[in-house]
Amino acid sequence: MSKVLVLNASYEPLNITTWRRAVVLLIKGKAEQVEHNGKYLYSEFPLPTVIRLRQYIRVPYKDIPLTRRNILHRDGHSCQYCGYTGDELTLDHVMPRSRRGGDSWENIVTACVRCNIKKGNRTPEEANMRLRHAPRKPYSSLYFEVTRHLKSGTHQEWKKYVIGI
Ligand SMILES: [Zn+2]
Repeated sequence: MSKVLVLNASYEPLNITTWRRAVVLLIKGKAEQVEHNGKYLYSEFPLPTVIRLRQYIRVPYKDIPLTRRNILHRDGHSCQYCGYTGDELTLDHVMPRSRRGGDSWENIVTACVRCNIKKGNRTPEEANMRLRHAPRKPYSSLYFEVTRHLKSGTHQEWKKYVIGI
């Protein structure tokens, strides 16, 4: 069954929940319906796809680990220099490690083997290889989860509630 995007009272995305849990929140009056998919649970009760909590809740910041898998996902599994998508993807340090480039979201990008070898020990400027996107840290793990749904073609209606997608 479909998932539901939960917004905080401030309209910031909070988490993704099941439609059952969302319906409970609506019935208890703890949340209001923002979007529905046109299907009805029963008469006059459309199935929600986005709900908003009536009361603002504070959430502790959840960090996203800097892992190969997460960097590939951020970069859409494509080489950030030539756009290649395929199996032969590596991680490239924008400022080479040998030149004190560190491990960070801003300094590691997805690159194909060919571009990685071609760039070698140089910066993108020196190698005359432009990055397609400036690498940055993703907003949150929720952002990751939402983009995964959007890429698989579901829940396009969530798009407008999540900044930067
Ligand atoms: Zn490439």
